[in-house]
Amino acid sequence: MSAKSAIITGSTSGIGLGIAHKLASQGINLLINGFGKEDEIESIVSHIINKYNVQCLYHSADMSKPEEVEDMVDSALRIYNSVDILVNNAGIQHVAPIDEFPSEKLEAIIRINLLSAFYTIKYTLPSMRAKGSGRVINIASAHGLVASPFKSAYVAAKHGIVGLTKSVALEVAEQGITVNAICPGYVKTPLVLGQVADTAKTRGISETSVIKDILLAQHANKKFVEIEQVASLVAFLCSKDADPITGTAIPIDCGWTAH
Ligand code: NAD
Repeated sequence: MSAKSAIITGSTSGIGLGIAHKLASQGINLLINGFGKEDEIESIVSHIINKYNVQCLYHSADMSKPEEVEDMVDSALRIYNSVDILVNNAGIQHVAPIDEFPSEKLEAIIRINLLSAFYTIKYTLPSMRAKGSGRVINIASAHGLVASPFKSAYVAAKHGIVGLTKSVALEVAEQGITVNAICPGYVKTPLVLGQVADTAKTRGISETSVIKDILLAQHANKKFVEIEQVASLVAFLCSKDADPITGTAIPIDCGWTAH
């Protein structure tokens, strides 16, 4: 039986890179994607190939451009013949009051954090249907379930991806394909560290206070979620035991959304 393959969007950094390592460690061939310096991406690809003895392709598709998303999926299908796992992870953030929110940031967040998942799913599903199996995992956020001020575009996109998850899950439930969203609380990645400075500016407080009094204040245990913990949940959703789990939005948020 040929090895499984996965597309992971936004996997040159943070949570996506952690998911890439986890799936590769299980012998799954990868197509990774995301921005970064050419030499750093080459080093990620060769490290994964050498460490896990799997195939690893890189595609530079900009998730805000549907035609590039289609080309990325076509490349995976051409090389691997099928896509067994699709992880929609690429995402950006911008923190600002709504009346000052730059339109170009709003549009980029909706395109990258929400619409790209619509297109990756649209282009990947035919191959999963043909095989009679597949896993789609959308990395949403606790902000797909609850809101915070000054994150209107991000919260709208993440609530949107939870809705997309449910709708597609129902469409494909009888075709051996599951579709789920994962809703992490705060994970220490470049995306979160970048918004600490923005939030400090928007609220007129120190960066230390942003971490302690705003970010970790939401987490009942006052700890960050670890990248590896999110990656392990992805791996579980890809397992046979997760067959009956579909259409869900699973919090991994240290109790945030239990409040
Ligand atoms: P990150 O900034 O470390 O990684 C984001 C990845 O997306 C990078 O590889 C980047 O190159 C890629 N990317 C950005 N714009 C892109 C585009 N236009 N086309 C293709 N790739 C693009 O961020 P992260 O924290 O690892 O976030 C990953 C996902 O997890 C995001 O969807 C984010 O919303 C979600 N999330 C993060 C947290 C957190 O606390 N870090 C919490 C909940 C959800």
